[in-house]
Amino acid sequence: MKNRIIKTLIFNKQLRLYLINNTELIEEILQIKEQSNIIINTALANSVTIATLLSATLKGNQRLSTTLTMSKPKYKIHTDADAHGNIRGYANNYLLSQGQYKTIKQLIGLKGAIRMIKGVDMNQFTGITDMPYQNIDKDFAHYFKQSEQTDTLFKTHVDWEGNGTIKNSYGFYAQLLPNSSEGLLKIVEEKSEMLISILKGLPHSTEVEVINLLNRYFSGVEFIGYSSAQFFCGCSKAMFYGLLHSIDKSELKEYVQTGKSITSTCNICGRNYHFNTDEMKTYLREGSTN
Ligand SMILES: [Zn+2]
Repeated sequence: MKNRIIKTLIFNKQLRLYLINNTELIEEILQIKEQSNIIINTALANSVTIATLLSATLKGNQRLSTTLTMSKPKYKIHTDADAHGNIRGYANNYLLSQGQYKTIKQLIGLKGAIRMIKGVDMNQFTGITDMPYQNIDKDFAHYFKQSEQTDTLFKTHVDWEGNGTIKNSYGFYAQLLPNSSEGLLKIVEEKSEMLISILKGLPHSTEVEVINLLNRYFSGVEFIGYSSAQFFCGCSKAMFYGLLHSIDKSELKEYVQTGKSITSTCNICGRNYHFNTDEMKTYLREGSTN
């Protein structure tokens, strides 16, 4: 059950509980930027895991984008998810080049903020909240309490190998459904350790095994289905050739003469696309024959 979100209702439809082990997905995302700061990678992995879990709540053409802005406002972590489980996420180049922190708390700082945009094209809802806990899981729960008045619990984890490569990434999301008893979320929180052990083994477990385990700790467990999740961005280098159009020809010639390359970054997945001087020369030649 790699990268698949298991969707359940527990306590007789009073609480939504979604589980994921998205190790492969996070591995792919981390490969794009190839950077090794464990604190930034952990913050990114945890944010992407939350976006992954929330993707299972989207419908039709809905999309959900989140931006974490750290106390230093140029430092940002973006995630993007759609209802088909296409997940993207990255720490921006500024954070990767400048950020030196020992803890996530330090990285977020006292003035962090979460912005969430959810909806379809023109019909979008944007919410912004602060990050009083300096903790990604707790601050996302705070977001839902503030902007949607729902009681939510997130637990995300990532385990690293000694050399800084990813070992395991997993998380769960629990949300109280309308008219449910408030204390139920507390019960789930108390069982976090048990849920974490289920999540660690998720890639090697069957659906029946998972449901049996949940039944041991919670009443009224109901399996409602799976959602797939995978890294996917539709961007390509060809799409970024348009960027060359927007640059003045004399300026491009200057780049060619000085041997500089141009880099453009996809603002959905964070992939960098480089245009070297040969590519610019080709572009200028083709441009002049049209
Ligand atoms: Zn992209």
